[in-house]
Amino acid sequence: MKRRTFITLLAMGPVAACARPAHATIRGLTMGTNYAVELAAPIDDAVRTRLGELIEAELAAINRAMSTYDPRSELSEFNRRQDLRWVPASRGLLEVFDRASQISTASRGAFDVTVGPLVDLWGFGPEIRTRRVPDDSVIERVRQSVGYQHLQADLSAGAIRKRDSRIQVDVCAIAKGYGVDRVAMVLDRQGIHNYLVEIGGELRARGTTAAGKPWRVGIERPVEGGHVVGEIVALENRGIATSGTTEDFFEQDGRHYSHIIDPKTARPVEHPPIAVSVVADTTMEADAWATALVVLGPERGYSLAQARGLAALFVTASGPTFDVRVTDALRAHLVG
Ligand code: ADP
Ligand code: MG
Repeated sequence: MKRRTFITLLAMGPVAACARPAHATIRGLTMGTNYAVELAAPIDDAVRTRLGELIEAELAAINRAMSTYDPRSELSEFNRRQDLRWVPASRGLLEVFDRASQISTASRGAFDVTVGPLVDLWGFGPEIRTRRVPDDSVIERVRQSVGYQHLQADLSAGAIRKRDSRIQVDVCAIAKGYGVDRVAMVLDRQGIHNYLVEIGGELRARGTTAAGKPWRVGIERPVEGGHVVGEIVALENRGIATSGTTEDFFEQDGRHYSHIIDPKTARPVEHPPIAVSVVADTTMEADAWATALVVLGPERGYSLAQARGLAALFVTASGPTFDVRVTDALRAHLVG
């Protein structure tokens, strides 16, 4: 019998769907990744074209609002501001800032969309540059411009502002989830009630598959030469998102530096390779919490998730195998 070795430092898989018979799939590209919309019922060509256009328009609007890769986006323009005045903001930016701020407070700052300057410094921002460990003095200087308390969103006034002119916002850890929720809303408005929406591994499902069963999503782990599916989650009118330290990283002097930054240390998270999947009412929340729990790690993150009743699954590389920890709330969504 062949022995299978776990590859601990390779992509600790995003969520992959399995066993999801669909009658129609609409695919495309957005936010630097792929999206897919699976429908349980067949649709004719005219409906497919119309739906495709509506979905593309929704995603394009989100990108115009919050892409940090587009210097003309509303967010890029906000980031360039040097003053502390309130400015009118789009619905999308308001909703994302507001929810981000709540999750920052709830995660005691582990989730922080103002990490932008640190993300850039460590080489994970929009600018292509060589990734290397910055000097301590530079890290110390740049971290002064980070702090979620310096970003404000007033939903009723429809305005946002900086309370420190140096802050730079990066919504990469929540925008895909938000995009999934918005696409789901497009489908809802078209009277479609059985679907699975995915953007780059973040998903949301409603209703049932073509076979009349709940949509099922498998959580993958890397093994030599590929992935295997571990736990299977049944998604009923909920979202799921995964975040991991092996999704994007560089190595220097034998050490692993991930794209997920701990705002407390101003450095990439330190613990062993970890991936966290979260199930929540919205994919936006699942996305933000998945990132927050990766920052907090397998002990503190697990305790907080358990205390808050979050449905979370932690996969930590432990030598050649994986440690899997599931919160009570997640257990309710597991199949088998
Ligand atoms: P992915 O985009 O790979 O699915 P995440 O949702 O965890 O993963 O988002 C990671 C991205 O979020 C990073 O590339 C960076 O732009 C940003 N980020 C890094 N650390 C944090 C943090 N502590 N809080 C919020 N955003 C972060
Ligand atoms: Mg995230």
